[in-house]
Amino acid sequence: MEFSGHNVLVTGANRGIGRAVALLLGRYRNKDDQPLKVWINYRNDHKGADALKEDIENLGGRAALLKFDVTSEEEFVEGIRLIVESDGGLSYLVNNAGIVLDRLAVRMKTEEFTHVLETNLKSVFVGCREALRVMGKQKFGSVVNLSSVIAERGNLGQTNYAASKGGVISMSKSFAYEGALRNIRFNCITPGFIATDMNAGLSDELKAGYLKNIPLARLGEAREVAGAVAFLLSDLASYITGETLKVNGGLYM
Ligand code: NDP
Repeated sequence: MEFSGHNVLVTGANRGIGRAVALLLGRYRNKDDQPLKVWINYRNDHKGADALKEDIENLGGRAALLKFDVTSEEEFVEGIRLIVESDGGLSYLVNNAGIVLDRLAVRMKTEEFTHVLETNLKSVFVGCREALRVMGKQKFGSVVNLSSVIAERGNLGQTNYAASKGGVISMSKSFAYEGALRNIRFNCITPGFIATDMNAGLSDELKAGYLKNIPLARLGEAREVAGAVAFLLSDLASYITGETLKVNGGLYM
């Protein structure tokens, strides 16, 4: 994989898909033969984030910790400012942090709807906007946003999540237009059912039901999503923008 840039910020990198993305990106070197520097964002789990930093460094990579809550615009903006101050710019951003708060729509409180939108959509807007400002000056950059198969097909009990992840796709396309003139690409990934804490609470019955509809007949692994993220960030995808790449084992084609 080829990378022209030198550093990357991954939000919500202390566990799950974000951790796998950070770990994989930490193994790549750029065209100057320098390891990509991985900025590991986390909000509370210092131990998890620090263990990841150590893992990246043990594999010969470079990493730094960046604590902030993505729902705080002020903290997100300051986080990116600190990266630019330290490294002189930001090459790549992965907006990965996200939550679910499932409930049938008839029982869902408006606050439960807006809380999910704040975390999964508003934060991605802030991240993309700040990235565009910094990357615009560099005339280079690539952003990958984590959406979901639920954006594409909807789901029972997930009106809030589906709205947030659908918004991520259409918003990313709009950012792609604005970034294109300055050589900045914006793309999305729509993972299917990936074995992380997010799905740990699913009953065996529900899991079996989902598996029946997955042609590859298994849940995905976080590292399989990470591979797609790395590809879209890299120079190999230099003519791809505004795209949404499915990583779902065939669940939704
Ligand atoms: P996990 O629940 O395993 O991890 C979520 C990560 O996001 C954690 O690191 C969490 O931090 C972080 N996070 C949540 N809210 C915030 C916040 N306000 N500020 C900073 N960090 C935050 O989820 P996954 O790894 O499975 O999912 C990663 C992304 O992929 C999400 O956007 C999710 O919607 C998407 N996705 C996942 C699928 C799956 O099947 N797993 C399928 C489709 C999409 P903390 O540890 O502090 O909670």
